[in-house]
Amino acid sequence: MYSDKLPEEVFQELGSSHSGLTAAEAAARLEKYGRNALAQEQHFSLVKLAVHQFTDPLIYILVIAAMVTAFLQDWVDTGVILLVIIINAIVGFFQELKAEKAVSALKSLAAPKAMVVREGHVREIDSELVVPGDLVMLTSGTRVPADLRLVETIRLEIDESALTGESLPSRKTADKLDNPRPSPGEADNIAFMGTLTVSGRGTGVTIATGQNTQLGQISREVATVARSKTPLQEKLETLSRQIGIAVLGISAVVVVLGVLVGESLYQMMLTGIALAVGAIPEGLPIVITITLAIGVSRMAERHAIVRRLPAVETLGSTTVIASDKTGTMTRNEMTVVRIYAGGRYYRLTGGGFSPAGEIVPEDGDTSNVALTSCLRAGLLANESSLEQDETTKEYKPLGDPTEVSLIVSAMKGGMEEGKELVDYAWLDEIPFESDRMYMAGLYRSAENGESIAYIKGAPDKVAAMCDTMQLPDGSEARLDRGEITGVAESFGRDGLRVLAMASKRFPAGTNHFDVGMISSGCTFLGLQGMYDPPREEVHEAIKQAKRSGIRVIMVTGDHKATALSIANQLEIVSDLNAPVITGDDMERMSDEELFEKVNSVSIYSRVSPIHKLRIVRQLIRRGEVVAVTGDGVNDTPALKAAHIGVAMGKSGTDAAKETAEIIIADDNFASIFAAVKEGRVVFANIRKVVLFLLSSGLGQVILILITIILMLPLPLLPAQIIWLNLVTNGLQDVAMAFEPPEKGIEYTRPRSLKEPVISRLMMERLVVIGFVLALGTLGVFWWQLQQGASLDHARTAALTTLVLFQLFNVFNARSETKSAFRMNPLANPFLFSSIIASIIAQFALIYWAPLQGIFRTTSLSIEELMVIIPVALSVIFVVEIDKAIRWAIARRSDLEKATEGA
Ligand code: ADP
Ligand code: MG
Repeated sequence: MYSDKLPEEVFQELGSSHSGLTAAEAAARLEKYGRNALAQEQHFSLVKLAVHQFTDPLIYILVIAAMVTAFLQDWVDTGVILLVIIINAIVGFFQELKAEKAVSALKSLAAPKAMVVREGHVREIDSELVVPGDLVMLTSGTRVPADLRLVETIRLEIDESALTGESLPSRKTADKLDNPRPSPGEADNIAFMGTLTVSGRGTGVTIATGQNTQLGQISREVATVARSKTPLQEKLETLSRQIGIAVLGISAVVVVLGVLVGESLYQMMLTGIALAVGAIPEGLPIVITITLAIGVSRMAERHAIVRRLPAVETLGSTTVIASDKTGTMTRNEMTVVRIYAGGRYYRLTGGGFSPAGEIVPEDGDTSNVALTSCLRAGLLANESSLEQDETTKEYKPLGDPTEVSLIVSAMKGGMEEGKELVDYAWLDEIPFESDRMYMAGLYRSAENGESIAYIKGAPDKVAAMCDTMQLPDGSEARLDRGEITGVAESFGRDGLRVLAMASKRFPAGTNHFDVGMISSGCTFLGLQGMYDPPREEVHEAIKQAKRSGIRVIMVTGDHKATALSIANQLEIVSDLNAPVITGDDMERMSDEELFEKVNSVSIYSRVSPIHKLRIVRQLIRRGEVVAVTGDGVNDTPALKAAHIGVAMGKSGTDAAKETAEIIIADDNFASIFAAVKEGRVVFANIRKVVLFLLSSGLGQVILILITIILMLPLPLLPAQIIWLNLVTNGLQDVAMAFEPPEKGIEYTRPRSLKEPVISRLMMERLVVIGFVLALGTLGVFWWQLQQGASLDHARTAALTTLVLFQLFNVFNARSETKSAFRMNPLANPFLFSSIIASIIAQFALIYWAPLQGIFRTTSLSIEELMVIIPVALSVIFVVEIDKAIRWAIARRSDLEKATEGA
């Protein structure tokens, strides 16, 4: 297992080196060893999907019906029923295929990545492409992509519970062990695939990939996109099952009643079956899945990748978005613009990451040792780098923009990264962690061989570690912490992010250090203030969020003054005196006190991930539906606690991404808000489909029941009922999933999570529509019989009425509140063309002889159509009246509330 070999030997045996593999070698190895993936979990199969279409109880009923009709040699009915079974299966197949495709597209979006070194450059690649010999880099929060023999570690700790069950993270080293085959629990210099880096950094050579890893040998499980059902889906599936049972009951009653009034048992059995087929909303669950899937893909277009489907419906109910500042609300394009060192102030010219620019003293004096030290500290206490593209000559930040900006400022001061690293040899490092708010590097100075620690971090933290400060002539004086705090504040008020630099000397030969060794006695070197412009689109998104009844909260590790300034620019708060809670405040606050404040305070500064968790918990206790952003390992508790955990796609760690419900690919606040908006659209569309499907089913049931009670002949033949459902539901329900957002959907209040899918309004409207459909159809049927029309002719008229009724009803269902006349019928072309297609099909049924033969229809005259069409249109007018009345009532109560308030 390479445990008992030296790193150099491992490199040699695996044909790799410190600069990694070449692209060609990596490609060849990929060919040879295959992808770095565990055995595919159950492959999705088309055959299975096809078979699945015939495993529905409803289909069994139809098959029995087909057999009965065939036995009685009623070939027309047999043919119709078989046709229905086939069409049903085909429609179901494609619907499910679409849903399946959407889900697997999601999976590939969320595919894990790995940082590897190839040809001397750090690259991010799909974890599946890692090959033996690849040099892989681990930082805190990284999921280990393959089995690695570690060749370099800095305080690397790995949580191996996924493999060993051991919950405490284990400390890793790059040293050689005596044991050639240690057990996973003892293999201190091996990082295993699937385990999680919780702190520190490391580099390792890949020794096994895919099935050959420890994980691959012991298990076939992988963390994948959860394909769970949403609570809403479950609720609706239960609902449609209940409706199904109710409809079967009603059908049985219909059969018995029909036989009692003298219809033949056989005829009534077929009617009962047809009714069940028509009224059971069997398409509902799958249409819901499609609606969700469409929502998911619309969100993906707007850079929000959904990892768990239930998030889609919860998103729409979000009432609070608690977001990071740096990189999410701002562009994360840091440029150092001011420096304070040795008591003097400087301004920097030039923008972006290009090192073209100068450091201009504000008081005219340039020679300043403290300035040089301050710049050097920024350059050396640094894990990132600045790369220049060989062809375009453009500068690219590699790593954390905060750190890269410090490299740029040092270059503006005349330093070179390469030269500094020759003069100062790297010895050890304390990596940056959000809870610590600083980082430090230990170097050996070429000048005198002394070891020197360079520290950079939040001014308050760094100042607390220092006793002295460096002066322009290089000497040291007592540090006035109050002054440093004052300067940092004044930078912060201009919206600058401020980092402090410090150093501490150690005797030559000190090759390692730890947090305790630099906690006091350091020398303060200066402050660098960097500007990070707010993202323009965020301003607009925050404005819209407010109008949508969503509160935006800024939760940042940055300083209070900086947070306030940016929050004010983005109008999260309306003035610079808005209340702010800092991490220190929170330390002194009980949860009860925090509970009292979370409702009114929108800025939280200098907070660490643990504070974030507390904020989320109290917001939830207040009944808010909370979306929270996070990127580090330590953010995972808060992400878990929130209703919607939002991980950052670019800056987020694997740990954060794996816990989050959604991943924001561009780290942009505006994308989070866009996802919330889409969530609302999804829910609204689901309701529309439900209303549409249930009201047409209900109409049929009422119709058949009334005719039987009135002892009239049946207004529809079994085959006709089946036809009816085919032309009016088959396409329209799916088409409704594509409904564009209703105007103003973003200006309504968030829906309560407790609100049932079928609201009171929907119930009432369902009943109204059900009766209009039944009575209108019955009226036409009755009128035809009165006119002395043949039964076949009266049925044709009734069927046509009901078909048109349902097609017009689509327009009602497009909005619960808005008039159908105020919606553009062409806004959803799919829906519009499905209706046209259905109308054409219905006319073919009436006038085309072959279909007339099968369905026993006759041609309707123009005069008859002139009666039928207005009757069918009445469903729109009745619902319009309902909408108008409700609107008037709502307005009156709004007015009353307004006058009460005045
Ligand atoms: P945020 O990104 O919201 O500002 P972080 O937790 O990333 O919050 O940072 C908190 C504070 O830690 C920053 O305000 C800064 O003072 C300091 N800091 C951030 N990044 C680094 C870094 N790479 N090295 C040292 N200090 C840092
Ligand atoms: Mg940060």
